[in-house]
Amino acid sequence: MKKAGKLGKVVSPYFSQSNSKRVTRSCRKSATLSAKVCGQAMTGNVVEAECTISDPANGINTEGGIGAGTGAAKNTSKRKHVSIKYEKTETLNQGQKTQLKEESNSTKWEPENWRGHLNNIREMRKKKDAPVDVMGCDKLQDDDADPKVRRYQVLISLMLSSQTKDQVTSAAMMKLRTHGLNIPNILQTSDSKIGDLIYPVGFWKKKITFIKNATRILKEQYDSDIPPTVEELVKLPGVGPKMAHIVMDVAWGQLTGIGVDTHVHRICNRLKWVKKPTTQPEDTRKAVEDWLPRDKWREINVLMVGFGQQICLPVGPKCHDCLNQNICPHGRTVKLKKSPKKKTKTS
Ligand code: SF4
Repeated sequence: MKKAGKLGKVVSPYFSQSNSKRVTRSCRKSATLSAKVCGQAMTGNVVEAECTISDPANGINTEGGIGAGTGAAKNTSKRKHVSIKYEKTETLNQGQKTQLKEESNSTKWEPENWRGHLNNIREMRKKKDAPVDVMGCDKLQDDDADPKVRRYQVLISLMLSSQTKDQVTSAAMMKLRTHGLNIPNILQTSDSKIGDLIYPVGFWKKKITFIKNATRILKEQYDSDIPPTVEELVKLPGVGPKMAHIVMDVAWGQLTGIGVDTHVHRICNRLKWVKKPTTQPEDTRKAVEDWLPRDKWREINVLMVGFGQQICLPVGPKCHDCLNQNICPHGRTVKLKKSPKKKTKTS
């Protein structure tokens, strides 16, 4: 018996193939060797292995070795040693690392067809002509204002937008900006005047108090700026997690989470983008962030809000006009309900 040669190639009458599995099968330490061979191939480390093999030419048969189970007489008295050396190989390139990473993530739960859903929604939204595209909260602030004032206006527009149509929020913001939407001026403005300016946004009476109290806190605790973290933003009166994540993105340019409002919440449940049905937008946000690649987070809010305003309506979604109908769990049920049953003729 001769020693092993280069990578996986064993120069021996019994190991004529350049094949690590072949070597493994013939070794008593097969499990260890197999793992090391794989390890070597993946990491590029040099592996040396020794194993005891048999010599069939002399009628020797090892446990589990070549010829095992063939009826050859068992005789371990003439076992020989072979030393197998594996050459160092290249370290993993970027593509191999990515492949490995994807393979290791492949067991992570993700919704069926989510890439198809997303591409179809992008296609249906490519005109960008939904109310959110022209009157969304990222469009209502004065971009020429002082940065602190601009950030304050982003926060106020988000506070006004909850439970309110984009058109109504936009009109209120224009009136506030004309009046002077900055911290000193709002603190000097009477509650009734603010009410006049923001009516008829949803919960406008409550929002007068929220705006006044939050503005006071910003002046006293944040040097007339807005807080730079989600944790601090949600402590302000009338500010929830959805608003906070969108404020972080629009005002501070930081992606901290997906802004999940009622549209995003509803559509994610209809498409089964959540492992289990959720009842609260905040639960939906956590469930979707758990699997959706982070580079997709930023687009989700505006994409789905507009989709919810135009096609996937809260009541009576337009499934028959939707590209997702055949791959949407909710749309498929609508299709089934609408399909007329074939009548069988009875003679
Ligand atoms: S098929 Fe219907 S429920 Fe599903 S995404 Fe489209 S509009 Fe919404």
